Amino acid sequence: MAQVLETPIEYLKGVGPQRAELMRKELGVGTFGDLLLHYPFRYVDRTRFSTVADIAEEGTAVQLRGVLKEVRMIGEKQARRLTAKLTDATGTIELVWFRGLRWLQPILKDGGEYIVYGKPTLFRERYNLAHPEIESAITWDQGAATPLQPVYSTTEKASVKGLNSRGIGKLVHALLPQVQGALPETLSAELVQQLGGISREEAVMEAHFPQDQKRLDLAVKRLKFEELFYIQLQLLKQKLLMQHDVKGNVFAHVGAHFNSFYTDHLPFELTGAQKRVVKEIRKDMGTGHQMNRLLQGDVGSGKTLVALLSMLIALDNDFQGALLAPTEILAQQHYKSISRFLEGLPVVVRLLTGSTKAAARKCLLTALKLGEVHILVGTHALLEDRVVFQKLGLVVIDEQHRFGVAQRARMQAKAKVPPHVLVMTATPIPRTLAMTLYGDLDVSVIDELPPGRKPIKTVHRDDHSRNAVFDFLGSEIEKGRQVYVVYPLIEESEKSDLKDVTDGYESLSRRFPLPKYAVGIVHGRMTPEVKDYEMARFVKGETNVLVATTVIEVGVDVPNASVMVVENAERFGLSQLHQLRGRVGRGAEHSYCILMTGAKLGNDSRTRISTMVRTQDGFEISEVDLRLRGPGDIMGTQQSGIPELHMADLVEDAEILQDARRVARRLLDEDPELQEPKNAAIAGTLREQMKEKAVWGRIG
Ligand code: ADP
Ligand code: MG
Repeated sequence: MAQVLETPIEYLKGVGPQRAELMRKELGVGTFGDLLLHYPFRYVDRTRFSTVADIAEEGTAVQLRGVLKEVRMIGEKQARRLTAKLTDATGTIELVWFRGLRWLQPILKDGGEYIVYGKPTLFRERYNLAHPEIESAITWDQGAATPLQPVYSTTEKASVKGLNSRGIGKLVHALLPQVQGALPETLSAELVQQLGGISREEAVMEAHFPQDQKRLDLAVKRLKFEELFYIQLQLLKQKLLMQHDVKGNVFAHVGAHFNSFYTDHLPFELTGAQKRVVKEIRKDMGTGHQMNRLLQGDVGSGKTLVALLSMLIALDNDFQGALLAPTEILAQQHYKSISRFLEGLPVVVRLLTGSTKAAARKCLLTALKLGEVHILVGTHALLEDRVVFQKLGLVVIDEQHRFGVAQRARMQAKAKVPPHVLVMTATPIPRTLAMTLYGDLDVSVIDELPPGRKPIKTVHRDDHSRNAVFDFLGSEIEKGRQVYVVYPLIEESEKSDLKDVTDGYESLSRRFPLPKYAVGIVHGRMTPEVKDYEMARFVKGETNVLVATTVIEVGVDVPNASVMVVENAERFGLSQLHQLRGRVGRGAEHSYCILMTGAKLGNDSRTRISTMVRTQDGFEISEVDLRLRGPGDIMGTQQSGIPELHMADLVEDAEILQDARRVARRLLDEDPELQEPKNAAIAGTLREQMKEKAVWGRIG
């Protein structure tokens, strides 16, 4: 049956080898099955028109019919655009396109009648339509006047060759009869019933050629659910397998180390979230399977302490603990704060980094092998083969995104039974994304900051206010505070970035001159030694101002620094801005984050900046980020684990996703091996999918 779906697309009527090549390249459609999964992304109501005079707000899409006039190409190079005027009985509106000009220009005829569809925006107090979809009234009138005309996504290249939305629709229409009966049900009868009684085949047909809105809604919901359900089922199944196959150390009890630290040495009460998370970790490490846990907590939420408490549980069970940090400075900071926490307790903590001297290293490694070192803190240096533990029980990795999977594997290989792994990240990931990417891991979230934190006052200033900003920096420095001034990242190729940061350094040095003041600078073109030296001066309070590129983004803790100035803030992503802001507000003083931008800002930049000014909640910020950029961009190339979705959308369909996960979990609880006859369709589909697809991104 399924073979029909694997038929190469060139065998479809209306598609030859050339077109097939185009479809493969431009649309990612290589087979009958792929074309079926190329669902419409929206439906046009061909029966409903607005008039130019009706337009009264931005953002609400309108469909207009009118005559096109004054089609012209204007502007040079990047600013090149195509404009035209559309006139109906009630008025005239300007249309403008920035992309696809080569393809559009020849098909737009002055004086022709067209149907356009787009969202009005206000520009110089007049509405216009930027990038509307456009179709000539002649071809439009050949189609049926249906309220649910599918619109397919396509590319400029494909459109030129007749594969515009309508062209694709025709192909799908030709395909449907051929695949009838080849789309077996993938869900159990019970689930189909719960989802509105639409079979898989009906749902696919309905999505391409809807009969009415109600059925379409049910079909779309079913297809979305199904997509998300199988992702969750795979992840949960994988997790089950892990728990069966990989035995872990049992940390059966909590003993003297943990208890005496907790009762006598804890300088403050744990937050409710810290308590909950420690409990989750403790339980996990006691079950006999290997822990693979992701600990998410905003900057300053107190992850280090959770790491320490977890390591003390390891010690109580006669195991050693290791804490890995991405940079030397962070390793030092962890080492210091952990040593301070543990003062007066019989726990031996050591630091190992690239700059540990040979003699000290030798001594340390011997002690480590003998089990005389209980907690080892360090950088990548911990991964080297000569670093041998007596009995490693728990590895904590700080700031997961700087470590690759291979490195984690090396750490795990340092013990006979794989150690428990706790990965800590301060980069909040939207819930839907976390569930999809890390659905086979356990996730703990510290969603509460320690009490008494003063909010960081965040403001947006444009370049004209530079003098006032400098004055403000001066007054903070007078109070003994320190200041970060951050510039966008220096890439190998971007000379202007280097110039920006060095110019900034010079003007700040003039404004805050020696010997009264000291200004430091760090950027990516410096050697690590020089960088570390400059950072260390700032950490010790020897410099008042640190001019930097984003090298300071991760984890650095200078409680005395109270002002973060971000230059060209419009060039930073939201999560980066959030991380940068997290560098201040660590001491008791009032802290400030000043986002500097040029006067003109694009829509997305404006949203990013206003979000930063509005909220300090990392999860809220990550949700906005997800909306602006989409899941692929957020996780970058390092996370290829994001599955391809044809119908569902991780931004819009959070509710369906939660539902899908709940249903998948309940199913596996009831029938872990999916052996019951009523689940046969699900078992079969899952088997197919697991065969096809590689394992999703795992962190452990
Ligand atoms: P992060 O999660 O960013 O790594 P840290 O672990 O560095 O945060 O903690 C930030 C600061 O808050 C540290 O100075 C730490 O000692 C302090 N801290 C942690 N937990 C608490 C708590 N429960 N109450 C008060 N202060 C705390
Ligand atoms: Mg930290």
